[in-house]
Amino acid sequence: MIDYKTLSNKYGTPLYLYDFNHINDQYNALKSAFRARKSLICYAVKANSNLSVIKHLGDMGAGCDCVSIGEVRRALLAGVSNYKIILSGVGKRDNEILEALEKDILMINLESEAELERVEIQAKSLDKKARISVRVNPNIDPKTHPYISTGLHENKFGVDLDTAKRMYIKAKNSDFLDPVGIHFHIGSQLTELSPIKESSEVVADLVRSLKAIKIDIKFFDIGGGLGIDYEGERLIKPYDYAQAIFETLGTLDMTIMCEPGRFLVGNSGEFITKVLYEKVNEDKRFVIVDGAMNDLIRPSLYNAFHRIELLDREENISKADVVGPVCESGDFFAKDINLPQSYHDDLVVIKSAGAYCFTMSSNYNTRGRVAEVALEDGEDRLIRARESFDDMIKNEKDYLI
Ligand SMILES: *Cc1c(COP(=O)(O)O)cnc(C)c1O
Repeated sequence: MIDYKTLSNKYGTPLYLYDFNHINDQYNALKSAFRARKSLICYAVKANSNLSVIKHLGDMGAGCDCVSIGEVRRALLAGVSNYKIILSGVGKRDNEILEALEKDILMINLESEAELERVEIQAKSLDKKARISVRVNPNIDPKTHPYISTGLHENKFGVDLDTAKRMYIKAKNSDFLDPVGIHFHIGSQLTELSPIKESSEVVADLVRSLKAIKIDIKFFDIGGGLGIDYEGERLIKPYDYAQAIFETLGTLDMTIMCEPGRFLVGNSGEFITKVLYEKVNEDKRFVIVDGAMNDLIRPSLYNAFHRIELLDREENISKADVVGPVCESGDFFAKDINLPQSYHDDLVVIKSAGAYCFTMSSNYNTRGRVAEVALEDGEDRLIRARESFDDMIKNEKDYLI
């Protein structure tokens, strides 16, 4: 049992708590599902880029999937080997490509033909051979929220099959490119296996046709996207996921890579916030808490659902909106949920807040980013200090004239 009262007194609110033991369980479940083949799990750092979270996963053997050079630097700082780091993303700057090559990371995932040329130029300037993979857009509907769907041709991600093939041939013929991987990632919070399997089939077929022209792919990167339980979803089981991929690969011998973010950390996290007061406008009841959309934006951004629990209260249940103090009507955590009567300083726990919550937080309304705390083997420890007012203004105050 987590002692929310003691933790919130010790670290203040709002607060993020992460159960590191749960992260272990998730990692181990996925890793063991793939044990029949060579595999590398590259944690998608953008889900939760706290250095201690990255280090925790790195210590278990995970690599990192990064989408900026800043994330690559985080991964290296957290002790992850350069040979387990990949750089993805639809728009990489020249200096990011250059630094990734200098740091000799495992590979760069290309998302366009134009990018292939930029990487070739940078590799040539260093007189190096850049290990690359191509992100293929299999054009399959992932059946998830449109904002987090990425595998349809109308999305900006990846290239079609013909373009991919052309890119592999170009890379093969270049002195400065080494095509070692192939990649797809069709969306996030996926709860159906069939679109993943179909995509894997399409991409595995491309691998076979590349093999026929002497281009041997070593890394088969199936992206991330495994869904988690926010509101009782039926989830894809790691075992079924791995088996589906194995089936599409048949006898192809490649290291299977995957890039889970949400799956590894999403359900490990909780956001703890305190009730400031209640307010009733006509017949509408609001529970106003000290956390806000700048701390956790998923409800505002995607209309995402997070379970919410008001601790130690059971009486006078009625419908309420749980809202923060930010000056936006979109600043809410939940609308029209059943909640007992609450009082000043009561604690509210927002569940499934380990992924895409802290990393999307901002200083909007000059609110400091909140503290983050790890729970492991019954111990708690601070992994990010609460941002102070001075932290927030430090890049401005010297310019005040
Ligand atoms: C965001 C992203 C991931 C992680 O997605 P999850 O849904 O958190 O698993 C993996 N790969 C790429 C390329 C991404 O953009």
